[in-house]
Amino acid sequence: MIMKRIFIGLFAVAAMSHPMTLPAQTTQQANSPKPATSATVQINQQEYKRLDFSDNLDYQEATRGFIADVEDGILRNEKGEVAADLKQYDFITGESPATVNPALWRHAGLTKIRGLFKVTDGFYQVRGFDLTNISFVKTKTGYLVIDPCTNPTAAKAAYDLLKKHVGDYPVVAVISSHSHTDHYGGIPGVVSHEEVISGKIPYITPAGFYEESVSETVLLGNAMSRRGLFQMGVGLPVNEFGVVDNGLGKSYRGGVFDPSVLWRPNTLIDHTGQTLEIDGEKLIFQYTPETEAPAELMFYIPSKKVFFCAELGTRTLHNLLPPRGVKIRDAKAWAYYLDEAITLFGKDLEYVVPAHSWPFFGKERSLNFLEKQSDLYKYIHDQTIHLANLGLNQEEIAATIKLPASLDSEWFNQDFYGAVQHNVKAVYQYYLGWFDGNPANYNRLPQKEEAVRYVEWFGGEKAALEKAKESYRKGDYQWVVQALKWVVFANSGNTEAKNLQADAYEQLGYQSRSSIWRNMYLTAAHELRNGNVTRNFPNRPGRLRNLLTEDLFNYLSVAIDGTKADGKECSIRFDITDEEKSFHVFLKNGVLHHKPSTGTEQVQLTLHLPKDKLQEFVMTAPDTSSVLNADSVKTDGDVSALALLASLITHFHLNWNIVTD
Ligand SMILES: [Zn+2]
Repeated sequence: MIMKRIFIGLFAVAAMSHPMTLPAQTTQQANSPKPATSATVQINQQEYKRLDFSDNLDYQEATRGFIADVEDGILRNEKGEVAADLKQYDFITGESPATVNPALWRHAGLTKIRGLFKVTDGFYQVRGFDLTNISFVKTKTGYLVIDPCTNPTAAKAAYDLLKKHVGDYPVVAVISSHSHTDHYGGIPGVVSHEEVISGKIPYITPAGFYEESVSETVLLGNAMSRRGLFQMGVGLPVNEFGVVDNGLGKSYRGGVFDPSVLWRPNTLIDHTGQTLEIDGEKLIFQYTPETEAPAELMFYIPSKKVFFCAELGTRTLHNLLPPRGVKIRDAKAWAYYLDEAITLFGKDLEYVVPAHSWPFFGKERSLNFLEKQSDLYKYIHDQTIHLANLGLNQEEIAATIKLPASLDSEWFNQDFYGAVQHNVKAVYQYYLGWFDGNPANYNRLPQKEEAVRYVEWFGGEKAALEKAKESYRKGDYQWVVQALKWVVFANSGNTEAKNLQADAYEQLGYQSRSSIWRNMYLTAAHELRNGNVTRNFPNRPGRLRNLLTEDLFNYLSVAIDGTKADGKECSIRFDITDEEKSFHVFLKNGVLHHKPSTGTEQVQLTLHLPKDKLQEFVMTAPDTSSVLNADSVKTDGDVSALALLASLITHFHLNWNIVTD
């Protein structure tokens, strides 16, 4: 039992007694988490008025068809090391602690329910081993696998559990529903690369899957990864003061997973109505590009009456623009495809199965979900434009828009992952861009310069801080973080200001219904108190290994330091010996170009090298010796051209500041 009406009573008691029993903040370590304030407790209590916590249907659906879990709650990698202790979220039980939004706590309690489940005859899922569910369809002689997890460890553990409890059959095909790692990275856990390359096992994806997978994570890999640390709360502990959920499900900390891969598919879906027969099982596809992912599909299995809605339908409002930053998603198309699914399959379907969270059972329940998620995105889309046409800017729309009660009261429409307030900004930007039309905002000063001036006008740091303390006491936390941003940016050595801003961020985190808002705010507090959360350079070396050679040059051109390159020129031919490709690479006007070589260009140097040496060059620059001295590399011409190019390459790092200057 996750939530019952009795919690309202329990929580009311906690709300009354909690602020009185808190230790005084001065006795706390400045860099450790603080308790919830009475203002936060009051805000969180409002959730009980807004939503029906006595509704038990989600719990019934999340546990329905349970077959088994891994015995000790531990996933192990190929070497036998602990990859994930699945029990790390077991603390989420009973009433909500004061430091977690109660609606999010309820959701987090549901997404921790894990194991092997039977959805209907011949359709199984393993949930809670990974951020994504892995699904299995029993075909005539084996299993069709849908979305094989983020990593091979989770996928293999899920398949092993299925074989043990349902039947030991081979995998006959794999589907990745879209171009996000959590839906393809674990494929080696269920089939071998040879089986896919040879075509023995159909690997089915939407058209554009491979290209979009590369595009979304590589060119912007560094910026997105650093921001992603905030979104996912990577530097935070898993507990009631830290991470409780990732909105879509659980990701696990502290273990060693076998690495994710990106393989090219051998079967593409490129239009709606396309059908495939897989080992006697018919699938009817719906092609849904430019929605939750740039390349995505959904499908219907007539014999099982199951509609797999991938990530267009989830038990949360999803993101039109997640805080880690991506190309903005098309809310109108998103709503359209969910509605189209009702037209195409609504007459027959009995089950709707999302890629994250748990299924919907029965036609009425399933159609209510598809209809209200479609209308949720359409309402956000239409009303953002409506309000923009009335002259409201992004912040004003976010503060004004209100969902109809029929949409707002559904648990599956809550903003546990995406949030209405940031999704309206995504719609605004999709059509109108970042600018709000007010010329004062068109060419703003950089934030540091703004900060110094603000603090001067506040009357200095001390005066600003006194004001902020007053606002903090009133529980005006959003204003505190906004105002103190100027003090902290003007002087990142002002520890008192940083600590107070951290305290305000933390309370905002405790209040957030969205897990990614919570993770962001708590990460901001953590970094203000303890310094930046750091991780290794993401493009060294794993991600570059998967790139097409053309994309390696695309990456190289954004790694060029334009200021250093000003006035410099070079011209090199790269003959990629193991791909029989040749590129003319040249620098002019501070820009690095690459084109297929005609073999006739005037070049200073021709390099004959295998692709892995080109990758090594990108990674080891400005040092060129390990590449030039390799037996597999031949040069013809002036090697100083390569040294010049290498000297202009920047290695991005993940340690850039976000909450301080
Ligand atoms: Zn996903």
